[in-house]
Amino acid sequence: MSDQTLRTPFPERASAALKDTFLQQALGIATTKFIGLRQESFAGFPEGEALRDRARAVKEATLQKLDGYLAELADNVERLGGHVHWAATGEEAREIILRLCRDRGLRRVVKSKSMATEEIDLNKALEAAGVTPVETDLGEYIIQLAHEKPSHIIAPAIHKTKGQVAELFSKELKGHFAADPEVLTAAARKELRQKFLQADMGITGANFAVADTGTVVLVTNEGNGRMVTSLPRIHVAVMGIEKVIPSMTDLMLFLAILARSATGQKLSVYTTLVRGPRHPEELEGPEELHLILLDNGRSAQIAGKLREALYCLRCGACLNVCPVYRQIGGHAYGHTYPGPIGILLTAMLKGDRSVKELAHASSLCGACHEVCPVRIDIPRMLVELREGLDRDRIAPWGERLVFKMLGRVLGSPMLFGLAGRIGRVAQKPFVSDGRLTRLPLVFGRWTRSRDLPPVAAKTFTQRWKELQ
Ligand code: SF4
Repeated sequence: MSDQTLRTPFPERASAALKDTFLQQALGIATTKFIGLRQESFAGFPEGEALRDRARAVKEATLQKLDGYLAELADNVERLGGHVHWAATGEEAREIILRLCRDRGLRRVVKSKSMATEEIDLNKALEAAGVTPVETDLGEYIIQLAHEKPSHIIAPAIHKTKGQVAELFSKELKGHFAADPEVLTAAARKELRQKFLQADMGITGANFAVADTGTVVLVTNEGNGRMVTSLPRIHVAVMGIEKVIPSMTDLMLFLAILARSATGQKLSVYTTLVRGPRHPEELEGPEELHLILLDNGRSAQIAGKLREALYCLRCGACLNVCPVYRQIGGHAYGHTYPGPIGILLTAMLKGDRSVKELAHASSLCGACHEVCPVRIDIPRMLVELREGLDRDRIAPWGERLVFKMLGRVLGSPMLFGLAGRIGRVAQKPFVSDGRLTRLPLVFGRWTRSRDLPPVAAKTFTQRWKELQ
């Protein structure tokens, strides 16, 4: 995200998104479709609920021995002829890749979709070093042509309508392309084929890495992941350390719920298992395989308040159901990872201060918790994040004061009763048709876009006494 974007306060970014009718249209269509597909898929999969519990338990057990599983993974990748690199920060990960390019004189890179490489802002670093990266996932290719960032974890160009993509292709690929997904996909495929054949290096992320076999697992729907890992001479996989899982049995478990949660598919179209570089008897595959294990703030949260966020499979289901994401889309969040889980991941990677506004970009409705395949309790962590912002005096003083006063009032039956009596009188000028529709001063920021029920004429305690 550009510094300029981050300098714009979140409420302004969100307001701009709300006024963008194309964005609203694109988001509405795509997220509603994803929600429906997920629901349908789990409805016909009765064992799904138990598998979600099991997957959550595996994630927790793996975190408890993360260092052991990572060491086992590294040993097995190296035993198969691969190279393992440990990167404590995004900068270290970028430097490892740049060094590989420099030492081997590489200039052309093809990439398959990877949030980890977005996280470390790899494309910018490659371009600055004279290496040309080409995104080969269709959505990523679109946003690369548009010089934008992904706005969804699994559907990077979700914010674009097909008409906008047709316009972009016509301008960038010098032709006339109809707003027809088949035409646009064929155009991208034609452009990308040469890039695959010319590339010196293929860079991917990793959906999982299996410790006891040293297997790097990629899940895609377009087949580009398979080409990126087999055509270029060198394959580099960048993986957050939390993606390690103990065994192939666990992989079956995660595969059974990942695609269902993401796109409603029983399984993604391609599941690519990479075990080391090409062996002499094999017909295809890279000469070198490098696995970069990226920490970048993750290990600090193993014992931290955001620990559960390390379970995340990056399926994107929580984004689709989030009433905030569905309205403002991914770019308004201003960071690599959008949506409710994105707020937690941003806090993990960049510190709590970076989300002092975003921590409130949730209605805490719990829809994200409900759909998450590993049942991550996102609302609980968001509340704890808000609490920490207040305790560490990161939240603005006005906000801290309001919550302090509210805490006092809610904690004292006497003050609560008094506040109710005052509220009942003070609200009178602002009640219309049984709702509070316009409040004065700072409270008006709430009623600008929604209303509130007025303070009830009688409290529950009064009514209870009357009933008795
Ligand atoms: S938090 Fe859960 S629902 Fe959201 S992307 Fe991660 S795994 Fe998917």
